[in-house]
Formats: sequence, structure tokens, C-alpha cells
Amino acid sequence: MKQIVIAANWKMNTNLNEAIDLVTSLKKLLSSSVKATTIICPPFVYLPEINSILKDSNIYVGAQNMYFEEKGAFTGEISPSMVANFCKFVILGHSERRSIFGESNELINKKVHAALVNDLTPILCVGESQKEREEGLAEKIIHEQLTVGLNQIDNIENVQIAYEPVWAIGTGIAATPELANEIMDGTIKSTLKSLYNDEQVERVPLLYGGSVNSDNIEEYVSMPGINGALVGGASLKSEEFSLIVTKAESVIH
Ligand code: PEP
Repeated sequence: MKQIVIAANWKMNTNLNEAIDLVTSLKKLLSSSVKATTIICPPFVYLPEINSILKDSNIYVGAQNMYFEEKGAFTGEISPSMVANFCKFVILGHSERRSIFGESNELINKKVHAALVNDLTPILCVGESQKEREEGLAEKIIHEQLTVGLNQIDNIENVQIAYEPVWAIGTGIAATPELANEIMDGTIKSTLKSLYNDEQVERVPLLYGGSVNSDNIEEYVSMPGINGALVGGASLKSEEFSLIVTKAESVIH
């Protein structure tokens, strides 16, 4: 059976009450959803509250980022073990972390190592900018993000990869399912297969991200190389997000 994963990236949105309402509503709406792995990634400060609401549910909690060091003089940062108290997953290398906060592939690789050591499943984000696509560099950029981001990582089956073309994030201009599949089933899978054996690679969930909503989700998960989605804007409304999950599940036979 095809693995389906739908992850919500709330980014820096919601106040505490809105976060509690959103997740309480999702817990109800998705109580009978069993086929997809659903992950909610709220802002750090809400993790304890969200984790306690979702403790007895079928929804997992994830963080949007973390630092790689375990402790020390890193003002403002959160360590992997701090995150692991509340989460099973962590988004790493999101394009906003790369472009706004200057995160390099090398730094992201350290975070991937640290996540795995702490039993967190990293959702490693890759994807090209508009300019890189126009210059014909998309495949090269993605190959580099993967090979450096996964440097010295053996247990790839404990990692998830999200392909998020930067030009599709928050713009309403989603990549066509065909284009997403071409990169995911093509570039991403062939890069992974150059680093790991086929059996390992087939176990890695590949998520598409970029303007996913309840109208287009089925087209993505129907593609052979796409296992699910990382959802930003459309994850902030409980009905819309639960529809995304249930529609994604409907493609599993
Ligand atoms: C994201 O932030 O990872 C994302 C894909 O955002 P959106 O769904 O809003 O494009």
C-alpha cells in the first residue's frame, strides 16, 4: 500500500488560542483518518500544549526547525532533545530558513544528523528558486541539496524528503503534478539511488510542497513518485486541512 504523509507547516502564525482551537478541531475532524500519517508543525512555543492535546490521537507533532548542538551558549536556539520531548518529526532546510536565515546545505546536514540521533524524523526540504529554474539549474541545485544535506547519513529510511520549488511556496502558483513528479520520481529518486540501495530509497516518503490545497491534493498523490504533501497556508484552516488529508487518503486502494 502506498505510504501517504500530510504535514502542516503553520510557520509563524496563530496566537495560542487560535492554535489550540485549530488543533482541537483537527483532532475531531481527523479522528477516523487512519491511512495517512498526519503531522502538525506549530511554532515552538505551542509545542507542549499541542503535544498534550494530540497525545491520544492519530496525529503526530513536528517542529519547524531546530539547532544541531545539544546545549550551550546558543541564545535563541532550540536543541534536538528539547524538540524530541514533544515531537516525532522536524522540518529541516525549509526554503525560508535557507533564504531568510542563510542556512547552508552543510548546516542543514548537521541538523539532519542531530535529528536522527535524537529519534526525530527529519523532513528535509529541497527545491529550486524561480531564477535557478529559468537558468536550467533546478536539477543541479536539488542534487546538491540532497547530496550535501544527506552527507554521511546511513539510515535514509528514517528521513522524509519534501520537494518545495521556492516559486510555488505561498504564491498560489503550484507546480503541475507532472512537473513535481518529474523532479521527485526522476531527479530526487535517482540522486537517492546513487547514494543508497533501491530498497532503502523506496521506503523514503517524498512530499510535494507549494500551494497545495483540497482542490489539487488528489492529483499530486495520484502521481507514482509522490507520497504526500507539506502544506503551508492551507493548513491554517481545520476544515480545509482535514479535507486535504481525507482526499489524499482516498487515493489509497
Ligand atoms: C510551505 O511553507 O512549506 C508551503 C508549501 O507553503 P504553501 O502551502 O503556503 O505554499
